[in-house]
Amino acid sequence: MLVRKIKSGTVIDHIPAGRALMVLRILEITGREGYRLAVVMNVESKKLGRKDIVKIEDRFMEGEEVDKIALVAPTATINIIRDYKIVEKRKVSAPRLLEGILRCTNPTCITRKEREPVTPRFRLVEGKKLRYQCLYCGTIIEEDEILEQLIGRNP
Ligand code: ZN
Repeated sequence: MLVRKIKSGTVIDHIPAGRALMVLRILEITGREGYRLAVVMNVESKKLGRKDIVKIEDRFMEGEEVDKIALVAPTATINIIRDYKIVEKRKVSAPRLLEGILRCTNPTCITRKEREPVTPRFRLVEGKKLRYQCLYCGTIIEEDEILEQLIGRNP
């Protein structure tokens, strides 16, 4: 590999090719924070054909960040490195229930009320494509919309 091992931090592997920058966007890393990081794009992968990899020194992630990574890079594995060794390896998966991360696209949905809005909640719709359904009004939101909400139109 082109990149040296990191002492401590996170390696996000098996990101779908071309999506490494989306992952950085999710983590709100612009390069100005001072983290040492490596982004490797479009390298060979047995599993995926091509993949991206992101290595970040001294940056760890959990909870909502991991859920968001799962939405833009559902094939990713998150490796936690300490003292040059992988101490934890986690495969992400799209959460079955999402609370507060996405916004319902139906303007009349109870979650969109200006007064006392309800926290948006969605359930994962089984299938090949990433889709979520609003628990309140039944509106389905598709992957394009999900990506746009998470990272904006121009990642
Ligand atoms: Zn709704």
